[in-house]
Amino acid sequence: MMTKQKNVGVDDADFIQETDKNPSNILPEKLTFDSSLQFACHPKVSCFTACCHNIKIILTPYDILVLRKRLNIPAHEFVTQYTEPTYLEKTDMPGVQIKLVGEKNGCPFVTPEGCTVYTDRPSACRYYPVGMADFHEGGTDDPEEEKFFFLVKEPHCRGHEEPKRWTIREWRADQGVDVRDEMNKEWLRLVMRRKSFGLQATLSEAAKRMFFMASTDLDHFRKFVFESSFLDTYEIDADTIAKIKDDDVELMLFSFKYLANTLFGAAGLKIKEEKIKIKVAEIKSRQDTALQQAEKEYEELKAERELLEKSRQAAKGTPSDT
Ligand code: SF4
Ligand code: SF4
Repeated sequence: MMTKQKNVGVDDADFIQETDKNPSNILPEKLTFDSSLQFACHPKVSCFTACCHNIKIILTPYDILVLRKRLNIPAHEFVTQYTEPTYLEKTDMPGVQIKLVGEKNGCPFVTPEGCTVYTDRPSACRYYPVGMADFHEGGTDDPEEEKFFFLVKEPHCRGHEEPKRWTIREWRADQGVDVRDEMNKEWLRLVMRRKSFGLQATLSEAAKRMFFMASTDLDHFRKFVFESSFLDTYEIDADTIAKIKDDDVELMLFSFKYLANTLFGAAGLKIKEEKIKIKVAEIKSRQDTALQQAEKEYEELKAERELLEKSRQAAKGTPSDT
């Protein structure tokens, strides 16, 4: 019915789905794009929709964008109605996961007939039973070199008994995974970067709020870009401004760049020269003011001390030496 991705205990970048952390369900074989896969999922399998219950599906920004368009509701309404907060990949990065409903603890989009949002289903629902590990961050420059796949074989999933054979490449193309990979990759890298920094490197609450806002509510992020001092602060070319104004995907990709820059100092966005000058002047002026204040206080203290000394000398009837 769905394709899902598991958190399997390897340090994989595709942490967006966790249903079963039992490594015994992960076949210990590294698969490539050309490896063979025997699997099929369709309404006639006896386990149909079983995997849409008791599941943790983390939504990527692209998943949210696509689903809320499908449902024709604003992002914040989608997030409130269909998701609940979570932390991403054991970091302090806030994200959302699908809020399960009903007695059977099922996905809100599942019915006995199948997934009601199938063509727009989340990324996590597309991968199963093929997980992917991506070690691009810190690896070589060839993304394919660092990628490998693994097969998840859970006892309840009868799809492995179906005769259909594919290569991993064919399976992924059929599931529309490549597009999702492309759309999600920079966001996944932000989370993996956070994970590799370790929690001893603190991220401010404001930074986490910004990450959450940009990741879950592009309407809000657009307002932030166009209705704050953002465009006065950053050097953004006219072409980019035109693209992110109306195109949600462009805005989303831009938000990843912005987050990488502000959270981790990655290159890609430049603060305007005059803004830097103003900031430097502000700091200098603050320093100057602080210095003037300190000098003033010192002079006042000195004058007070001299006065005291004079009165002390006058009381003794001897002239002061100051
Ligand atoms: S979105 Fe669709 S495929 Fe994914 S869990 Fe929900 S019902 Fe199943
Ligand atoms: S075959 Fe596997 S993926 Fe398909 S519905 Fe059954 S459990 Fe889910």
